[in-house]
Amino acid sequence: MFSSIRSATLLGIQGTPISVEVHIGSGLPGFTVVGLPDEACREARDRVRAALLSSGAEWPNKKITVNLAPSSQRKGGVGLDLALAMGILAASGQIPIDHLAEYSFVAELGLDGSLRPVPGAAPLVAGLRDTRVVVAPPNAREAKVASPRSIHCAGTLREVVLALRGDGEWLDTSSQESMKGTTHFADMSDVRGQPTARLAAEIAAAGGHHILFVGSPGAGKTMIAERLPGLLPPLTNEEAVTATMIHSAAGASLPPGGLITFPPFRAPHHSASMIAMVGGGSSVLRPGEASLAHGGVLFLDEVGEFMPSVLDALRQPLEEGEVRIARASAGVTLPARFLLVGATNPCPCGGGAPGACVCNETARARYLRRLSGPFLDRFDLRVAVAMTGVEELLDVREGEPTAIVQERVARVRQMSLHRSGGVNARLSAQELDTYAPLTNEARNVLRRELELGRLTGRGYHRIRRVARTLADLSGNDGEIPEDTIRVALLLRTRLHERDVAI
Ligand SMILES: [Zn+2]
Repeated sequence: MFSSIRSATLLGIQGTPISVEVHIGSGLPGFTVVGLPDEACREARDRVRAALLSSGAEWPNKKITVNLAPSSQRKGGVGLDLALAMGILAASGQIPIDHLAEYSFVAELGLDGSLRPVPGAAPLVAGLRDTRVVVAPPNAREAKVASPRSIHCAGTLREVVLALRGDGEWLDTSSQESMKGTTHFADMSDVRGQPTARLAAEIAAAGGHHILFVGSPGAGKTMIAERLPGLLPPLTNEEAVTATMIHSAAGASLPPGGLITFPPFRAPHHSASMIAMVGGGSSVLRPGEASLAHGGVLFLDEVGEFMPSVLDALRQPLEEGEVRIARASAGVTLPARFLLVGATNPCPCGGGAPGACVCNETARARYLRRLSGPFLDRFDLRVAVAMTGVEELLDVREGEPTAIVQERVARVRQMSLHRSGGVNARLSAQELDTYAPLTNEARNVLRRELELGRLTGRGYHRIRRVARTLADLSGNDGEIPEDTIRVALLLRTRLHERDVAI
């Protein structure tokens, strides 16, 4: 007997439909899987056998051949377990094949016959258009993001069989639909003092400018970075679905409603590997932190401590907004457009209060030089975050709340979208001449900086982009005046003597 059951396999954040074909014939009892399965697929035999027996079904003691079609595509993961079990039940006559015609199956099986969630349920279901998809209950929310009306859940293999026969009901998962995602970003009002860092954060959010905070431990770099996603506009529907697909494929946690509606905040540790940062891995090519931060903030604390090769791997997403992973068998492109926020101490000892630094000049220079070069050049904004003074700490007045700053940010984003089709940080040199013309005085200031060697050609454009955002924030969408250029220059602190490549 023969059966063919639909399921899907994952590559990056793309679910691709596949058929699990099961043939049961005479011959020596055995079990063979063909069609480029990975290790997890090959191990499916033992899980499926135990699950069938635990569910009161029979394991046919015959020659079982399983083909995963199309055979050219590599299959990864454990999501094929349930489809394989259904295929064996159908091919051995334990369930009528016509009961299965409308269905696809995406779940791992426990040895006790329970349905278990799999990473990537949302993209897997998205790859199975026009069918009813059976998933494990913990996958219901994210599966419904991909296909709201055609998701069915059951706790065990036995319940799946009963529901398909019409002898039982699918689990009711509708109560989960009403749960909306809520924001849980800390508020900017918690940040006391720090006028420069606050302004820089606002500019970063409004113009999409990458930002580096330089300051001692405890000065509040992390505190401000964590509040940056709250300043960004909420995700559009399309962005929300993409972000959810990425988190689902990476097996990362999702909000109660299933759909990610707010800009993500990712803060990988400085020991993060290349694969953890940009994605990859053996068979399914999981998204990394750069993709998980898509639409939000990627925060690199102690940025100088990251492996240079890992920082270097961020160059492509920073330039193109996506990560491309090539393998001999397949290549994937993962979305990865994020706001980069870096933080670093000013020196190895951390500095602390003014005058408290115990590092010599050589050590300081060497420490900051780890950040020099092309990577440092990515940051449009580099601001010193000073220790909050005693007066500010004791001041009971709150800082300006996120909601008010976010209104200004949203207005500038609208303005720039209308003007150039994107954020100011992505204005090209030609576009700068059109959309960010300088007054004569402003041009003279920049010319002098160039002549003194304190500004490179690249830095010149970066200053102008930041200045455009600054002017937009003050409601001026015309020529950039001199004082705006001067503020933009101040927001790009030189880190050390040799740091002229700004
Ligand atoms: Zn020091």
